[in-house]
Amino acid sequence: MKYYNLKENDEQVSFAQAVKQGLGKNQGLFFPTAIPKFDNIEELLALPLVERSVKIMQPFVGEDLNTSQLTDIITDAFNFPALLQPISPERAVLELFHGPTLAFKDFGARFMAKCLQVFIAKDTKASGKTKPLTILTATSGDTGAAVAHAFHGIDNIRVVIMYPKGKISLLQEKMFTTLGGNIETLAIDGDFDDCQTLVKQSFDDKELANIIGLNSANSINISRLIAQVCYYFEAVAQLSRVKSDLSNIVFSIPSGNFGNLTAGLFAKAMGLPIKRFIAATNMNDTVPRYLETGQWTVNKTVATISNAMDVSNPNNWPRVEHMLKSGIVDQGCVSSVSIDEEQTQSAIIQLSKLGYITEPHAAIAYKALQYSAEEGEFGIFLGTAHPAKFKEVVESILGQPISLPKELAACVGEPILSEDLSANFSDLRSYLLSRSTRTVA
Ligand SMILES: *Cc1c(COP(=O)(O)O)cnc(C)c1O
Repeated sequence: MKYYNLKENDEQVSFAQAVKQGLGKNQGLFFPTAIPKFDNIEELLALPLVERSVKIMQPFVGEDLNTSQLTDIITDAFNFPALLQPISPERAVLELFHGPTLAFKDFGARFMAKCLQVFIAKDTKASGKTKPLTILTATSGDTGAAVAHAFHGIDNIRVVIMYPKGKISLLQEKMFTTLGGNIETLAIDGDFDDCQTLVKQSFDDKELANIIGLNSANSINISRLIAQVCYYFEAVAQLSRVKSDLSNIVFSIPSGNFGNLTAGLFAKAMGLPIKRFIAATNMNDTVPRYLETGQWTVNKTVATISNAMDVSNPNNWPRVEHMLKSGIVDQGCVSSVSIDEEQTQSAIIQLSKLGYITEPHAAIAYKALQYSAEEGEFGIFLGTAHPAKFKEVVESILGQPISLPKELAACVGEPILSEDLSANFSDLRSYLLSRSTRTVA
């Protein structure tokens, strides 16, 4: 399988190259030249998660990983479950937060880290020397933790994570700023879009990119998305054990950078029975406005209680748009709804009355289903993070204590190791270069 650049269509690379490079020329996103289509969906659904995921991903990785390498990587990366939990007769939540950092991003980040580890080892063996590799990533919360944990302790990879200072929860911050070693963290004086701009500017600076061996672990990296395809299959597999009619499944996806939606669209294009998608956003509603008016207008990002979705210029949108416009999926299969703060809170309360404790991101997806699911549709909303990651907010809405799982409890007492930095690219540039020779413990 080859990947081509959605902006500069002549640029075609292998899976390994797309993973190592992150972005193509002119900041174009890589996209598969063909999406594999399965006609034996039932057989696939009957398989256990790892075995099925190998079959799903094998065509995407092509010759760059053989089946035994891919099996090892997936076994290691997906060592926790995705659980479909019933909420009501027409609703279920797909809990994706049972990994080490309690968010769905563990699936993609762990798969990506393990792929890179294999590709770097291969390159080192071929050339006899190790090239520097710096993963520069911007996070509005959960990416940082997932990337930091996935890459912590991997030889020859330096990880630099930027986040908007004061705009993520203390627990979120503790989950990725306390590791040290090859994980460096920068508290940026700005918002998430500023952090994302800094990543783009770094990629544009060819000299810098070359010296430090720049890569990004944001959801622009195709490996993360391919890993995420697997849990849509897992959800439908679990549903198929209790429900025989699979013709009316709707996924509601709490969306920020629209990586999760992209992966869901891949799954649909591959033949998984998904009727349609609802992309639920918070008040950062560029996409719902765009689908309604046809105008792409980016407003200033506003801070919300679903802060991992505080994104006003979502970086995976070109992939979604391409799939809709080129007929890879049908145009009408994506709708989008914006949910405000009050509606988010009321959804958390409604769910708790149904006996389910959730957090703001999943609550938004649930609310979007309540607004736009039609009769006869079975709605699955994605549980993208564990409620304890948003402990303060959830406790204040529900007025009851949320206990910390052991993963969070472990890092709460550790000191934050971040450095503060302005949102000026020149400051970031000197930071990256001044440390580029630093040896990793
Ligand atoms: C990252 C994140 C999202 C948004 O996912 P995208 O793939 O960027 O749209 C939603 N919820 C949580 C908890 C997240 O961490």
